Amino acid sequence: AKASGRNNYQFFDQRMNQAAARRFELESSLRGALQRGEFELHFQPIVDTASHRLHALEVLLRWRRDGETLVGPDEFIPILEENGMIVAVGEWVIRTACEQSMAWQAQGLAAVPLAINLSARQFMHDGLVDSIRRIVGETGIDPSLVEFEITETALMQHGGQTLEILRQMNGMGMRLSIDDFGTGYSSLAYLKRFPVRKIKIDRAFVRELEASAEDRAIVAAVMALANSLGLSVVAEGVETEGQAGLLHGHGCQYAQGYLFARPLPAGQAARLLKRDCAT
Ligand code: C2E
Ligand code: CA
Ligand code: CA
Ligand code: CA
Repeated sequence: AKASGRNNYQFFDQRMNQAAARRFELESSLRGALQRGEFELHFQPIVDTASHRLHALEVLLRWRRDGETLVGPDEFIPILEENGMIVAVGEWVIRTACEQSMAWQAQGLAAVPLAINLSARQFMHDGLVDSIRRIVGETGIDPSLVEFEITETALMQHGGQTLEILRQMNGMGMRLSIDDFGTGYSSLAYLKRFPVRKIKIDRAFVRELEASAEDRAIVAAVMALANSLGLSVVAEGVETEGQAGLLHGHGCQYAQGYLFARPLPAGQAARLLKRDCAT
């Protein structure tokens, strides 16, 4: 038993080394990825649960590594967060999303709000508000078409300055959503203090909605809270008609998930904007 214990330990050690090696390799090729133009944006529809009409598009970052494999953000965003590159890459995301929206509008396509993710480190960076202001000025985008998504945990980490930053964003006409709602910070007091317009119910509460009475109770409680505070609600990760029906029944106005559409490259997202105009 002792020998096999040691083998397990060695196996674990080897796995750790492999993970560390993979991470090291990713980090070194990430260094030049922005300059090499390897990042791209995909867009996932957020729809109205009653009409299924397009309400907004969430902007999701992808890395086309060596011009080939598409790497998902869960693999590389933690690395960018750690080495600080998220500030530059995040600025690129905001600028590119605004440019894309303006290009679509120039083609006569529907102008729908874009929901852009902000990471904790990016939110804490002093230059954020100035950089957003500059991008809005340079691209000419209507700021009411820009929404930022930020997690509860990221909001709480910034302490006293959070309110000031949110006020400045609001002052520019931009909206703020709480991402992954229910998975982070346990106090809800911030919902009263901060100018938040929307909350996104995390996929964790949607996944087993049909089977789990507890998850239905959580969704009902979130809806009651949101209604009394005047917040809109988006449910994330909706994959089945059953989930969509239950969410609609609970009064959840917006939903996002594979049932409606996967994240799409810009060309395919543009087709949705055309169809939306026609209806
Ligand atoms: P998130 O903000 O919670 O984004 C939603 C994630 O759920 C996306 O994963 C999306 O593809 C996935 N998803 C959507 N519908 C479904 C569904 O029905 N089922 C399942 N299983 N998944 C669904 P993705 O694109 O891999 O992004 C992962 C996370 O990476 C995001 O989670 C967000 O936290 C982060 N992220 C993505 N783009 C950016 C970015 O530009 N900046 C920053 N800071 N973070 C980003
Ligand atoms: Ca998000
Ligand atoms: Ca989310
Ligand atoms: Ca998430």
